[in-house]
Parts: sequence; C-alpha cells; structure tokens
Amino acid sequence: MKAMIPLLESAKALDEQERLCDRCLGRCFARLGTGLTNEERGRALRVVLAMLQGREPRRVPPEECAVCRGLFRSADEWAGRALKSVEGYEFHTYLVGTRVPLEIEEAEKALWKRHGIAPKQAEPLKQEFNREVGKRLRGLLLKQGREARVDWEHPDVVLLLDLERGVVEPTINPLYLYGRYRKLVRGLPQTKWPCRHCRGRGCPECDYTGKQYPESVEELIARPVMEAAQGAGHALHGAGREDIDARMLGRGRPFVLEIERPRRRSLNLKELEREINERAQGKIEVHGLTFVDRRAVEIVKGMEDKRKVYRARVEFERPVAQPELDEALSRLVGEVQQRTPQRVSHRRADLIRTRQVFEIQGEMTGEREAVIEVTAEGGLYIKELVSGDEGRTRPSLSELLGVPARVTELDVLDVLGEVPLEADADENKEPS
Ligand SMILES: [Zn+2]
Ligand SMILES: [Zn+2]
Repeated sequence: MKAMIPLLESAKALDEQERLCDRCLGRCFARLGTGLTNEERGRALRVVLAMLQGREPRRVPPEECAVCRGLFRSADEWAGRALKSVEGYEFHTYLVGTRVPLEIEEAEKALWKRHGIAPKQAEPLKQEFNREVGKRLRGLLLKQGREARVDWEHPDVVLLLDLERGVVEPTINPLYLYGRYRKLVRGLPQTKWPCRHCRGRGCPECDYTGKQYPESVEELIARPVMEAAQGAGHALHGAGREDIDARMLGRGRPFVLEIERPRRRSLNLKELEREINERAQGKIEVHGLTFVDRRAVEIVKGMEDKRKVYRARVEFERPVAQPELDEALSRLVGEVQQRTPQRVSHRRADLIRTRQVFEIQGEMTGEREAVIEVTAEGGLYIKELVSGDEGRTRPSLSELLGVPARVTELDVLDVLGEVPLEADADENKEPS
C-alpha cells in the first residue's frame, strides 16, 4: 500500500470513512478520465481498492448514501414533470437547472472539505442531476418524435427543478425576430402610445382603448406573428424611432420583435412577412424577417447612433432665393449643438448634445417652400435643425438664413451602416 498514488489514497479514505454510493464516490473524481459515468468511476475505484486489499468491494445502496440519499432514482420522475411543465410549448433547445435542498448541498461541501477534494477534480451533485434529467427529457421527447438539445446560452426553455418543493418552474424564453420596417403613412406611432387623458387605463376620450392612436407599427407587425406563435405578449425594439408624423422609407428601419411565451416557434417567415404586409394595407411593410436570439436586441438598440438620411419639406416665413438657401445649407455642415427639444423635454433628459451634419442640400420648390435632404448622425433632431427651437439648436437653418423656417413633412430615407444580423440572414431561416 506504500506505493498507492494519491488518487487511491483519497478514494480509500472516502470508501472507509464515508457512506457514499458508487455515484457519489465517483463524482469526487469526475474530472479525471473521460468516457465514464460517475457510477462507473466509483465502482472501478472500489474494485481496485478491494483487489489491493484482498477483500470484497464495498457496496452502499444509494438510499443510504450520506450525500444523495437516493435522489437519482427520481430522475425519470423529474424528467416527466419537467416535460409536463412545458406541455403545449414548442421548443428546440432547453436547459435544466436544479435547486438542491440545503442539507444535500452542505453534506457535499462538508465532504469535499473533510477530504481536501478540489472543485476542479469533482463535480457538484447539482450538475450531474441536471445532466441526468436532461438526458431523460431528451429521451421522452424523442419518443414523441421531437428533438431538442441543451443550449447553455440561449435556450428556448429553462426548467428549474425545485427538489425541496417537488415542482418544476419553467421559463419560456421569448422568440426574437429581426427585420426592417417601412412606414408609408404619417400619424402612426412606432409603439403603443398610452392615452393622454387616462394614461392607458381606458376612458371615454380614447373609447376605452387606453390608446392615443388606434394602432402602431408594432401592433401591425405583431398581430399576425402573435397569432402564428400564439404568444402571451410582444415588444418592438427599434433602431431608434421616427416621429409619429414622419414616414420611414428606403430600406426601412431595423427592428427586433420579441414575442413572449410563444407556443409555436417554427414559423414560416416568408409567409408571415406576406401576411403582415397584406393586412397592413399599405401603412407599413416589413422585409428580411429572420430568427435571432436575445443579443440582437442590444445590437439593434446600439444602431440608434447610426447615420440617417432624411428628406424634409420646409416652409419659410418669407420668400427665400435658391442661392441664399444653398449658402445657408453649406454652413450647416459640421457640428451642431442641440439642447433637448422643447417638444420632447417632458420625456427626455434636458441636455446639450453635439451632433454632426455630414451632408445637406436643398431645392426651392416654391417662393417660401423647399425640400431638403440631410445625412446626419443618429440622434440629431431634424425639425429643430431647421427651426432652431428658439435658440436651443445652433446653428440652425432659420438662424443662418435669418428667416424663420419649419418642417412641414419629414421622411427618413435610410438608416445607414452594416447590420451583422443581416449578414447571416440567409443561413438563419430555421429556429435553432
Ligand atoms: Zn450517493
Ligand atoms: Zn383614455
């Protein structure tokens, strides 16, 4: 026994001093050797110890194990419960988690401490239980002709096994769809706008809808998707937003539609796109719908700073000549200091931002009317770039011309910049 390597010394101490089943003994050495179950590891160590000592290998029935107390016998039952907890929900990826009773966790911790077992060589019981239940869940699904795999990062569903309470707490993660929308009419908000009078509770003013506007870009896109996915709710994350009275033309504005608790995830996006566009009756149009994961929300929100191209119809208080306009516009290129406009100051922090105008040109279309096209940094308010907002935006077209001017119509023509989500759009037509 003198030559016994530390592994066997440690196994011998565990075998003789603790009441551990093969699985729990093996789990103390889980990271040593591959292609073995913990039960096989424990059993193998016991066989070697018995051979070295010329005796029979020790056997501890799992029910008598000081750590697991036979917990793994219930793995099948837990897999069944887990499956039942997400009945009626389609999913292709999952993650199993376990909330272990305190006494099991402490027994394991104490055991590791008594025997100097390093966490890098052992595996926590929790992890093995997750895996064992996950394997069985996969088996149950296969029997139903369904396939699912573990996803640590972005699982469709998370199944939390609460051992103490004997219940599975499922989390149905949202479904995320990326696309671009074009808004072809004015007077349509991007998202639901609560009624000014009742703040969304419903009152005679809003016909008890709680809404200031009967519909929004979000609702027009989400309605058909909600029906197909049978979700419980939705949210639209846009790469910025245009004013209610501005159209969004060109390639459209990138967005991610989030569908909460979807029952169906296999959607025919081409067909859905057609249906959204048909039912929106020319108010909006979407294209490039593709399945994405949660990360896309941040990517799209981060696009708010991207350059945008706008077209504005401008009205002047007195006649302006083309050369005058050209001269003023050329001087608008460069930095603009813009204090939060009065019209949004009730919902935006009051601060002064510096934004760039990259390109601007215009054409007089009447004595007191022009159409201008601007390429500017995201976040620059175009209406105020024209009007000056009583000196809150400087320079402004009004200031440079010495003629009060205001925007009567605004269109966003493009949101510039690469969208990583569009690069892999073609290979991403199926939910993962
Ligand atoms: Zn055990
Ligand atoms: Zn109301």
